[in-house]
Amino acid sequence: MNSYRHSVVLDEDKCTGCTTCIRRCPTEAIRILNGKADIDTDRCIDCGECIRICPHKAKKAMCSKFEHYTHYKWKVALPAPALFGQFNGLEDIDDVLQGLIDIGFDEVYEVAKAAEQVTAYTRLYLKTDHIKKPVISSACPVISRLISLRFPYLKDNILPIMPPMEIAAMSAKQKAIREHPELKPEEIGVFFISPCAAKVSYIRNGYSGFKSNVDVVISMSDIYFLLLSAMKRGNPPTVGSQTGMIGIGWASSGGEATALLNDNYLSADGIENCIQVLETIENGNIPPQLEFVELNACIGGCVGGVMTIENPFIAKTRLQTVRRYLPVSRNFLSPEMNFVPPEFVTDDMPEYKPITRLSDSMGESMRMMSQIQQLKEALPGIDCGACGSPTCRAFAEDTVRGLVKGDRCCVVLQNAEKKTEAKADEGN
Ligand code: SF4
Ligand code: SF4
Repeated sequence: MNSYRHSVVLDEDKCTGCTTCIRRCPTEAIRILNGKADIDTDRCIDCGECIRICPHKAKKAMCSKFEHYTHYKWKVALPAPALFGQFNGLEDIDDVLQGLIDIGFDEVYEVAKAAEQVTAYTRLYLKTDHIKKPVISSACPVISRLISLRFPYLKDNILPIMPPMEIAAMSAKQKAIREHPELKPEEIGVFFISPCAAKVSYIRNGYSGFKSNVDVVISMSDIYFLLLSAMKRGNPPTVGSQTGMIGIGWASSGGEATALLNDNYLSADGIENCIQVLETIENGNIPPQLEFVELNACIGGCVGGVMTIENPFIAKTRLQTVRRYLPVSRNFLSPEMNFVPPEFVTDDMPEYKPITRLSDSMGESMRMMSQIQQLKEALPGIDCGACGSPTCRAFAEDTVRGLVKGDRCCVVLQNAEKKTEAKADEGN
């Protein structure tokens, strides 16, 4: 049984079975069954493409509501750096941090601060002997899950440093426990303000058995309006940002890689582009000097997440303005620091899930492959989606796997009818 808990779900009442989403899903995880979109949870990577594309708003990301968590006595907000790109005319990050305090948080711990730490540790890690290169960033959970499903040979290329969100959550919790001994640990709630659905799934599942330090995930789009009215009050900031240009730069594609001050990097965004890059690495066709690869499933990076408000390119431009007033970084390592702290290193890499394997037996797989090929040749090859599968090839595979009946292709049915009619005409 699949135990992966996804955050992308279907609102059945709104789904018309229009098939728009099945063609956009990069892992072919959606089928139309009984007139509704059905997500194969083994294949879904929570990229959010189906949420973006659905014309009926039938797909959504599950998140928590801030106001439902009144039982925490100390609430810490973890804003993702993309949050600072959502506000028109923002000049000072501190205004957003103060807004978070004004809507009811007791403390703010910026994910951008942890991002600056990850940058510094990644520079150290890249100098380590005998590591697999290019090192692939671990920050985008969609990419990590995609590697576990489709590119298992690249698993050891993933940067074994926890993503900034997780380091921020761990540090924020430790800080609150240290500074508030009067509270029990379970009375402290760490709230991540997320730009995307995949981070919600990461927090709900972790990697193989690892439990996240984030207690609650709130959608950036939900908190935006609360924040906007709080910020309009114009309370002078009582909290100061602890991040610089580097930390804020992580919100946009290329920000993580350029911060490494190493020219041998590649950065790509958009899920299809990321898949192409991973295929190229897997095939060994990348320049040998490439050291680091930053991949963001969303166009523009985290500013393009489905739970943001603003157009990613506008958000990116705004962040450039905000960054202009910041120091390069506020989180440099001390010169004597020459290793990555063990608590920030993770061994819990995504487990390989062979979603494309037809059968555990090689002989049976080959038999099924040949059947799929035969069936595919009999199909029209127009990938219309009317059968409920994204392509004719996928329909042939679904049929051979026994998931659907092979008589669902309306083109084949029409052709068969025409032939029968023609024969009947000939007979008359
Ligand atoms: S795009 Fe997918 S989820 Fe949206 S209405 Fe069409 S079939 Fe349903
Ligand atoms: S979230 Fe992405 S992978 Fe999952 S069903 Fe939607 S489009 Fe497919």
